[in-house]
Amino acid sequence: MKGKPNIEIDSGSGFCFGVSRAVRMAEEQLEKGTGLTSIGEIVHNEEEVERLRLKGLSTSALDRVHSSDEAPLLFRAHGEPPASYKKVKEEGRTLIDATCPVVLKLQQRVHKAWLQAKAEDGQVVIYGKKGHPEVTGLWGYTDNEALVVQHPEDLEQLDPDKKVFMFAQTTMSQKGYAEIQELIRGRLSNPDNLMAHNTICGQVANRVPRLKEFATRHDVVIFVGGTRSSNAKVLFEACKTENSRTHFVAGAGDIDPQWFGSPLNSIGICGATSTPYWLMEQVEKAVDTILGKQ
Ligand code: SF4
Repeated sequence: MKGKPNIEIDSGSGFCFGVSRAVRMAEEQLEKGTGLTSIGEIVHNEEEVERLRLKGLSTSALDRVHSSDEAPLLFRAHGEPPASYKKVKEEGRTLIDATCPVVLKLQQRVHKAWLQAKAEDGQVVIYGKKGHPEVTGLWGYTDNEALVVQHPEDLEQLDPDKKVFMFAQTTMSQKGYAEIQELIRGRLSNPDNLMAHNTICGQVANRVPRLKEFATRHDVVIFVGGTRSSNAKVLFEACKTENSRTHFVAGAGDIDPQWFGSPLNSIGICGATSTPYWLMEQVEKAVDTILGKQ
């Protein structure tokens, strides 16, 4: 080896606007000393959840929050269905609504399309992961009537003779969206009946080409992300297709020194919209320590 390889953290990786905002809102509330309960994990990153837990943030499903727990509730960036707002209101609880403004807007669009679909005997399709909190929220804005399509086989339930209003979970891949859109068009008796709204968030879509370029610039890439994050999965796959020596880690403890066995010029560290920057810095430090021992 010619010396220690260069290590670069991708400056465009880390929290997106919506997640940064939610974490900031949570920290501001925690500083007031009231405690705070997040309805579901505030971010799909185990390490960040633990950091906030140590500051006093607890996590619970909405139907499990105990009535004696008087801490305000936080709705995370993914958003919630109307039923959640109703429940919080009925129970007279204080709500910190950290739903990402992009998701709020999408919820309104989905709701409007659902009303139109009802009036015109159409159907709403949401391309997204079944059970993902953002999708559960969006689904609620159609009175749980929209068809959630995650895989092509889910289209079996599509009515080919009805108008389709199509939307996407904000963190899905563009490639997957394009495939489902074409499959729907092919199934409809009148292809003009497809009103497709590509609602994949720019904060996610723009990262794919950037990260692909980043992955080609390095000999080894370490992708830092939460194991339950959809966005991490999409972005990791994008890096992996460009550089087969891309490895997924949830934290510094997952690094395998064997990844750096052959001579290297550079190592890239990057992450998802739910990956805190401090975690990528921890990984950088750990890699540096391993390289120092080799
Ligand atoms: S990915 Fe986009 S829509 Fe989702 S939380 Fe981040 S900014 Fe908001």
